[in-house]
Amino acid sequence: MEVFLEVTLEFIKAITAVALLLLLGDFFSTFFYHVPEHVFGKFHTIVHHGKNRSFFHYAVLTKNPLVMLDGILGAIPYFIFTPWLWQLSAVGTIIGLLLGEFHVVWRHVSILKWKTPELVKSFCNLFFITTPERHWLHHQNAFAAYGDIFSFYDYPAQKWLTFLRFVRRKFRATSTAGLV
Ligand SMILES: [Zn+2]
Ligand SMILES: [Zn+2]
Repeated sequence: MEVFLEVTLEFIKAITAVALLLLLGDFFSTFFYHVPEHVFGKFHTIVHHGKNRSFFHYAVLTKNPLVMLDGILGAIPYFIFTPWLWQLSAVGTIIGLLLGEFHVVWRHVSILKWKTPELVKSFCNLFFITTPERHWLHHQNAFAAYGDIFSFYDYPAQKWLTFLRFVRRKFRATSTAGLV
């Protein structure tokens, strides 16, 4: 009985670590890298939304250092919490990182004419998980479909985007006024 309880507890801890890693990673990646990069930077836009659209261009599989850097910067938030999550569950942390990496590759397969099976689609809709089809919308329109892993980050990300664009406009207006 005691062993059973222990196994159950470890299982719950592992699931929690997986969920926290993906939720926190996607949150920090979206709000502290992805959205600000679209407003203040050019780097992600060139790499991720560039005209040169090929699967290898987006996936971290490429040897192009710029593409790799965009991938690494976007992935940092997933690693920040690992020391803490590792204490909760080492297995869960590893599975979480693997799932995160798998999702990066998977959400970029639409370029390979992938069609998500209906069953997988229903599963994703149920858990608000971004499908390749949904992520492709973001590649085509930088103002749509935020949330690399979880689609529920899209709404707050849109608000954050509008706010940061407002800040940028204000900042530009003041710096131009200062020049006159
Ligand atoms: Zn992408
Ligand atoms: Zn983007």
